[in-house]
Amino acid sequence: MSTDLQTLLQEAEELAFDIDSSYVKAWKEKTGGLAIGYLPIYVPRELLHAQGCLPVGVLGAGDNLEIIRGDAYYQSYICHLPRSVIELGLTGRLDCMDGMLFPAICDVIRNLSGMWKMMAPEKLSRYLDVPQNFDPETGGLFYRHELEELSADLVKLGARPLTDEALRASIEVYNRHRVAVQSLYRLRQDEPWKVPSSELYLILRAGVILPVEEHLEMMASYEAAVRADTTRKPMDQARVLLTGSFCEQPPLGLIKTLERSGCYIVDDDLIQVHRWILSSIPTEGDPLDNLVQAFLSDTIDSPTRYIDDGVKGAELVQRVKDSRAEGLLFCAPSFCDPALLDQPMAVTAVEKAGIPWTSFLFSENTGQFQVIREQAGTFADSIKLWS
Ligand code: SF4
Repeated sequence: MSTDLQTLLQEAEELAFDIDSSYVKAWKEKTGGLAIGYLPIYVPRELLHAQGCLPVGVLGAGDNLEIIRGDAYYQSYICHLPRSVIELGLTGRLDCMDGMLFPAICDVIRNLSGMWKMMAPEKLSRYLDVPQNFDPETGGLFYRHELEELSADLVKLGARPLTDEALRASIEVYNRHRVAVQSLYRLRQDEPWKVPSSELYLILRAGVILPVEEHLEMMASYEAAVRADTTRKPMDQARVLLTGSFCEQPPLGLIKTLERSGCYIVDDDLIQVHRWILSSIPTEGDPLDNLVQAFLSDTIDSPTRYIDDGVKGAELVQRVKDSRAEGLLFCAPSFCDPALLDQPMAVTAVEKAGIPWTSFLFSENTGQFQVIREQAGTFADSIKLWS
């Protein structure tokens, strides 16, 4: 792993947009292990890791692939991510995946899981149903059963059986990973000029491809390099929180555009799998139960999660305060039902708290940013002038 900042970022970018799965193929050749793809937002990577599998995030092809056949599978009024995932599949780019997991976050992903079953009947294709009831005796038992079934499916593919000892070790390494990600987020909050979001995004996106141990090294090298870099100086930018992009990812150019328009992004929803579980998962006791309990009671609020006793938007307001953001950018994928159905409730909470906000939509292959640049620039200026 390189320690030179520019080389490190180049490596991260190659991994982040490796639509031909070159890294995964090389990893399989080297280790003989199984690669299991997963769609956003969250899968329990600890379990896959404990059984010797490589969890591989499939976040769409962005603007790197022309969609030719993927459009034929979907109506026009849905988001872009499933089209590019279909295109990746039809062009053989995901053939190296021994299985694919489709977490239950929306109807689009559920339909995609059905299509995948028809497209690749010989491969494991699993809809990972996650509970929307957070009582351990109900949702907890249900989720544990889901995880046990997933684990048994992996064994049928050739993975090693799950043991408590291996799962504890995997939870421990992912706990270290959570701490490292939080450290980078904190550094960006404190000194956003040192950690441009366009860089942090690449580093985090590389982390859905790399094995967790290698990604820990990459993050440590990046953090050391930017801390040591004295050439990065603060600028008079507005601090904003970017929300809504938890599944389909905005193009890198859009993130750069927001920064160039005068915004420091001090918190975001990007590559959320790394931060879905908020704190370290205990390793004592039954580790599978601990994984289940973390999902039930220690995850971020998300439009894809049912909130039974909370107030929609309250967590967002709290994040604005915690990150000392001066404004909020609602930045959701076009036609994303979970993000856009939640947005009015979030706006109500945000306005009540007196937080300035603006909103725009994107697709992962959006190529024109001038309008967003003007909008975000005006928003940043208005914060600087009047907030
Ligand atoms: S972008 Fe939104 S609608 Fe599309 S697959 Fe993701 S969560 Fe579902």
